[in-house]
Amino acid sequence: MNLSPHFTLAEMTRSATAVRRGIDNTAPPPVIAALRLLCAEVLEPVRAHYGRPVIVTSGYRSPALNRAIGGSASSQHSLGEAADFTVAGISNIAVCRWIEQNLRFDQLIYEFGEAGWVHASFSARRARNQTLTARRTASGQTTYLPGIVA
Ligand SMILES: [Zn+2]
Repeated sequence: MNLSPHFTLAEMTRSATAVRRGIDNTAPPPVIAALRLLCAEVLEPVRAHYGRPVIVTSGYRSPALNRAIGGSASSQHSLGEAADFTVAGISNIAVCRWIEQNLRFDQLIYEFGEAGWVHASFSARRARNQTLTARRTASGQTTYLPGIVA
């Protein structure tokens, strides 16, 4: 099933962890609607701007999958409102700065630098346009700085 011209439901629900652990990651209809919005408002504009593949590393996470990977209980991934992705050949920080300046979104996180990914969310309920930078401390904990920080 296509969610938008360049994104499928399969790629937005794919999870190696779910497969390995036998966790159902089927998206219910409200989640599919949210994923469609996320594709239309964020992922398609990013793809169109760069003209390059957008590689989604994590989209929807069912509550069971989210628990299994230790995700936040309030994660927008579990609503179909968020995706983690990279753009082939483009730095993650450049993608974050382009989204920040050109798109409407709820939350945008530059996660773990260039070895990491871009987390972006879109919600029909709110548009905070919140930007954060996630880093791992020496002890392995995640800290968040305001803004997109190199
Ligand atoms: Zn994420």
